[in-house]
Amino acid sequence: MKIQKTGQPIRVRADHVLEVPPYPLIPVIEGDGVGADITPVMRKVVDDAVFKAYGETRALIWHPVEAGGGARCNSSQTHPLPEETLEILKQEVVAIKGPLETPVGRGWRSLNVAIRQALDLYACVRPIRHFPGVVTPVRHPEDVDMVVFRENTEDIYTGIEWPMGSDETVRLLRFLTSDLGVAPLRFPLTTAIGIKPVSREGSQRLIAKAIQYAIDADRRSVTLVHKGNIMKYTEGGFCQWGYELAEASFGARKREGKRGLWFVNPVTGREIHIQDMIADNFLQQALLQPAQFDVIATLNLNGDYISDALAAQVGGIGIAPGANIGDGTAVFEATHGTAPDIAGQDSANPCSMLLSAEMLLRYIGFREAADFLVTGIRGALAHGFWTPDLIRAAQNAKGGDQGEQPVTLAETGFTLHPVGTRGMGEAVMLYMDVPGALG
Ligand code: NAP
Repeated sequence: MKIQKTGQPIRVRADHVLEVPPYPLIPVIEGDGVGADITPVMRKVVDDAVFKAYGETRALIWHPVEAGGGARCNSSQTHPLPEETLEILKQEVVAIKGPLETPVGRGWRSLNVAIRQALDLYACVRPIRHFPGVVTPVRHPEDVDMVVFRENTEDIYTGIEWPMGSDETVRLLRFLTSDLGVAPLRFPLTTAIGIKPVSREGSQRLIAKAIQYAIDADRRSVTLVHKGNIMKYTEGGFCQWGYELAEASFGARKREGKRGLWFVNPVTGREIHIQDMIADNFLQQALLQPAQFDVIATLNLNGDYISDALAAQVGGIGIAPGANIGDGTAVFEATHGTAPDIAGQDSANPCSMLLSAEMLLRYIGFREAADFLVTGIRGALAHGFWTPDLIRAAQNAKGGDQGEQPVTLAETGFTLHPVGTRGMGEAVMLYMDVPGALG
């Protein structure tokens, strides 16, 4: 007999610790484009992982909510991000979403940015690691094992900008030149203007989360990535405030003649190094010597570029997960967008969203289910169950010869099985029961 499960919302205590019932309500936004392909697969696979881990004693109770194209088509909703959706995300605390479309240069502002700002989800957390068997363009993808903490609510993503020739731009230019003494811009009549706010509070709460993560996960370093050499007060401030926080709140200290700060992890007794690096140098070093990096804390725009670039080193954005986390409230999401060119073709890779769901399961303390899920993904990838993006990436890594058999999985010795979105979901469920499949 099947037990009737009634969902209950997760609660956040005053100290930001979650109280998770056995049947938590989890709001889910299907998403635009490939969202309709990957989200149903994610739900099915996650249900299977939770069942494998706990039988009938625990389950996620999915609560579908509207945003994006779905919301616009619904006759009762006119805005792509209904107020009701935001309210449910707030009330039920932990949610997952598919990608949402943002038109370029017209239409509504990014719904993803709006959700992050409305719920104050100030940390965008993106782990980047390699899965055995996945062929990538770099020689040692296994050296990439980083977690990027990207500030999510400030920087030039706040949407404070005005178009060329607008009244606001003309007034702002006048204010800048006459009141603040800024030298006239090179092309004042054809200049658009955006503002880059970066605060000490905003920077420090993000950096605190990154350092706390390094403590909890026993990581060796936190690197503050910035462009403070050029943007001295915004990006330079981020770096300076980061060091100040590490010193004041975590007891980090300088070492004679060495760059950065150190402190001892109070849980494991091992040292954690707080260092900083200019963003362009970081991108170079991350490609040449990725093993030197561990936890990364950075500003909004840098984090966007960095996480996609790192994802490419381990197999692409099809397998890159992400989470937007505040003081308890969290929305998990794939790093990629709606990929309209492959939407509706059962060919999108669902692993980015599956790995985001794995993060969600760990976040709410369903660790055994998360382990089943990641075992399944690891096993499916290592045994050659690959979606077209992985096959193409492997072909490109081997010189782009489209005519040949795409790849032999030299690392694992298995034969390639091309699959679509649903086939990948089936393979993940199959390999959940093979613990330890290739590490
Ligand atoms: P994108 O949707 O991430 O797609 C870029 C390319 O990445 C796709 O054309 C596709 O490559 C590949 N790709 C992405 N997801 C994939 C998956 N699951 N499986 C296999 N391949 C995948 O980026 P975009 O084209 O710049 O953005 C499209 C829309 O998504 C925009 O409206 C943008 O604003 C939005 N977006 C939303 C989010 C979000 O919701 N968090 C994030 C980023 C972008 P091929 O062409 O090689 O197949």
